[in-house]
Amino acid sequence: MASVRSSPPTTMAGRPSLCKENVIMAKRVTRNACKKDDLILVTGAGGFIGGALVKYFLDKGFTNIRAVDKKPLPMWYQHHGGVDSISMDLSEKDNCSKVASNAVEIYQLAADMGGMGFIERFRIQCLRSILINTHMIEAAYNAGCQRFFYSSSACAYNTDLQKSPEVIALKESDAYPALAERGYGWEKLLSEMFCQEYWSERGMKTAIARFHNVYGPPGTWDGGREKAPAAMCRKVIEAKEAGRHEIVIWGTGEQARSFMYIDDCVKGIDLIMHSEKLIATPVNLGTSEMITINELVSITEAIGGVKLKRKYDLDAPKGVAGRNSDNTFIMEMLGWEPSIPIRKGLKTTYKWIEQQYQDRKAGRKTVEDVA
Ligand code: NAD
Repeated sequence: MASVRSSPPTTMAGRPSLCKENVIMAKRVTRNACKKDDLILVTGAGGFIGGALVKYFLDKGFTNIRAVDKKPLPMWYQHHGGVDSISMDLSEKDNCSKVASNAVEIYQLAADMGGMGFIERFRIQCLRSILINTHMIEAAYNAGCQRFFYSSSACAYNTDLQKSPEVIALKESDAYPALAERGYGWEKLLSEMFCQEYWSERGMKTAIARFHNVYGPPGTWDGGREKAPAAMCRKVIEAKEAGRHEIVIWGTGEQARSFMYIDDCVKGIDLIMHSEKLIATPVNLGTSEMITINELVSITEAIGGVKLKRKYDLDAPKGVAGRNSDNTFIMEMLGWEPSIPIRKGLKTTYKWIEQQYQDRKAGRKTVEDVA
């Protein structure tokens, strides 16, 4: 299992190589952080993490935020006053140029994605996110953007290292030799490479975080794109409501993962984006608290105050056997790592999904109805 592991992570934070594009690069003067009225662009802002990131920057006092998503505005997960919210398809080159204009920092979170059920079934849709990433980073560069953030994924890692639930935590160098998750993971890996080359050839500062399973409110909790923590909360709530005390689990339940609460995620994005040591350097953004899906069910049952009979659907999508985040590198670089425990984050998530469930029952608008 360890045989394909390669050298320790190296950063690309050194000087870019020389080429004709460096003429443009020389004109690009980057600051460490934005001024409060500099234009920040968040793409995928109608979704889970993008919406939370907009709120994070508003709470920090930033006053000039442009939020973009393909979904019509009424379908966005979060709405914030004082934000320039635009519904636009960013797989179109011209749209990327329009929204990137005057942006000082760009956070690229738009992607066609979902949980295991979605990414195993709709590989072409996942691969087509390359259009968004290709056009968005070029538009960022042409607009003279100072820093560009890219939301990569732990699905970029070599899947051969994740065949056993006896997991060795994945460190950044484990993405190569490459054998990423089909579709979604390969798209992430290639888009990471764009980020590295826009720094190396053209001198645009880029940041790359490999997210490990992000959860929390207001994330997708029903409809097919939801991830395991939200799905477990919903299934426990449904079982209680129906008085049918059983739960269907995808796979054997022995699949192991780590789950990062949304508050850690947005803080990590900010820290990674503004670290001079991490320019164009993929870094894990996840907790190292690994649990099995069976344990996740037990925690959710305890929160819901119920014990359910478990039925295992061995034909359902289950993803890799085991995956955890090795946080040695992020600790070395930032002296920080995501640390909100799953028991704490899941309690908040469960309560929110329970409310969503009741709202839907009562005919009120919910996140999943509008997704
Ligand atoms: P999400 O689905 O909630 O948000 C993504 C948003 O992108 C959606 O609102 C969608 O409408 C929008 N989008 C899709 N295609 C678009 C297009 N052509 N133009 C404009 N907008 C478009 O997903 P999320 O969980 O918020 O994920 C954000 C980013 O983080 C994605 O790049 C995702 O791959 C990455 N990521 C997320 C997780 C996780 O656990 N949530 C894990 C790893 C990586």
